[in-house]
Amino acid sequence: MKRFLLLMMVCCSSVLAIAPGIITNGARDKPRIALTFDADMTPGMKGLLDSGKVKSYNNTKIYVLLEKYKLKATFFLTGMWMELYPDQVKAFLKNPRYELENHSYSHPGFLQPCYGLPGVAEKNKISQVVKTKTLLEKYGIKNKFFRFPGGCASKSDVALVNKLGLEVVHWDVIGGDGGAGDAKEIVKNVLTQVKNGSIIVLHSHGGPKVRFTDAALKTIIPALLKRGFQFVKLEELLQSH
Ligand SMILES: [Zn+2]
Repeated sequence: MKRFLLLMMVCCSSVLAIAPGIITNGARDKPRIALTFDADMTPGMKGLLDSGKVKSYNNTKIYVLLEKYKLKATFFLTGMWMELYPDQVKAFLKNPRYELENHSYSHPGFLQPCYGLPGVAEKNKISQVVKTKTLLEKYGIKNKFFRFPGGCASKSDVALVNKLGLEVVHWDVIGGDGGAGDAKEIVKNVLTQVKNGSIIVLHSHGGPKVRFTDAALKTIIPALLKRGFQFVKLEELLQSH
């Protein structure tokens, strides 16, 4: 059980899923990149919050850094996370540099196995997407993109999401902050992989297994700015896709 919980919290992800229809990057001819954060929330994570074992799954230090550098960023939110942190969602909405998108409702693995994430029955897959789409709409956000938990998806899962009017966007740069032992590891992962058009995936939920994201960003952000990269929202990066 312990291992199961750990896997649930550190997912997303070491393998790049490449089912057809999954966008992994933008145009390679311009020095533009998208910094994206997933805000996971599973019933297991919520249990840890409810029991007091985990104080928060909202790493606000990340937002302070994004503000310091006035960076644009995209957040893929799970519906359960939105329900737990409505004030944070409202704070995101006040910032025109932020884009909010869909990371399912309770973060199941659509295609099994998926890093220990619980699965989801075929008949419930639509509601995993639509519940969060509806939540985003309640805040006035037009949902455009969906990211599969753990990046685990079959061809038919991608088709289902497309049919619901959303494009599937994953990444080409895995920060590996889920379960990282220190910030250096994350810095190395990002700085050695980023190129024009890259989509970087990190996590904004923090918690005991995702401890070093903000510390890593303190090095990553100035290093990428020095290389001349412009940080844009996904909708801008993928405009001409
Ligand atoms: Zn995730």
